[in-house]
Amino acid sequence: MAHDDRVSAALVTGAGSPDGIGFAIAADLVAAGLRVALTATTGRIHERAAELGAGTVGFIADLRDRDQARRLIDDVHAAVGELDVLVNNAGMAQTGYADESAELTDLDPDEFDRQLAITLTTCFTVTRLVMPGMIRRGRGRVVNISSVTGPFVSVPGQSAYAAAKAGMDGLTRTWALEGGPHGVTVNSVAPGWIATASSTPEELRAGTATPVGRPGRPDEVAAAVAFLVSPRAGYITGQVLVVDGGNQLDERRA
Ligand code: NDP
Repeated sequence: MAHDDRVSAALVTGAGSPDGIGFAIAADLVAAGLRVALTATTGRIHERAAELGAGTVGFIADLRDRDQARRLIDDVHAAVGELDVLVNNAGMAQTGYADESAELTDLDPDEFDRQLAITLTTCFTVTRLVMPGMIRRGRGRVVNISSVTGPFVSVPGQSAYAAAKAGMDGLTRTWALEGGPHGVTVNSVAPGWIATASSTPEELRAGTATPVGRPGRPDEVAAAVAFLVSPRAGYITGQVLVVDGGNQLDERRA
């Protein structure tokens, strides 16, 4: 997003999966010439960084842990420089943890807390550490990967995930107000049915019922992020850009 000849530095959280949205976003930012740091909770992040080539660095951190998050941001600054771009993509699924989603009457309160922690609190914790530097330097772009689930629609059994994603959009609007006077824009990208390694067969089938007739691809989400962090998007802030193949539009439910 640099408006001058400085090369911008970016952090993409949750970029561990080769088929995931975070990795696709990181690949786009590298292609746009940014220095990119990646993070996830497991060692596979180093494989993703190596795939993107020299200059891309991977870090392991569980972003539920504030100390790990603080060390991560120190390490990222040392490796790629102060961050101009932050993409909060981590959440929904974490290696080593089964999805225990259930309808409200059966929902384990600990699972509700865990989903809020990995999806919403990680976004707060990381941005809380990164925004001050952006504000001090008078420039920055934050993109929260929320979802249509929660802010616009929902699915039975998704209380925690939906609450976390609606919460992320609340953070987007609040931080846009706080960052605007300091040259920092904050937006959400809200994907619909996107085919990734964490998609279930039922979700992939649901993608075929969109007006576009197929699930989306991670690179189609990444394109929206690349636009929002580009200099051309400097007057767009506090918005939620839906990437769902038009899935919410049709009133003709049979
Ligand atoms: P992935 O499972 O590939 O990505 C989730 C990433 O988040 C993983 O890299 C995981 O780390 C990381 N993560 C989870 N918990 C933590 C934590 N505590 N600390 C740090 N990192 C953590 O999923 P997708 O690519 O499908 O989804 C990426 C984002 O897009 C998510 O926020 C999801 O909610 C959102 N989204 C996805 C949609 C879809 O259809 N796929 C639709 C709408 C939104 P690790 O690699 O270590 O497991």
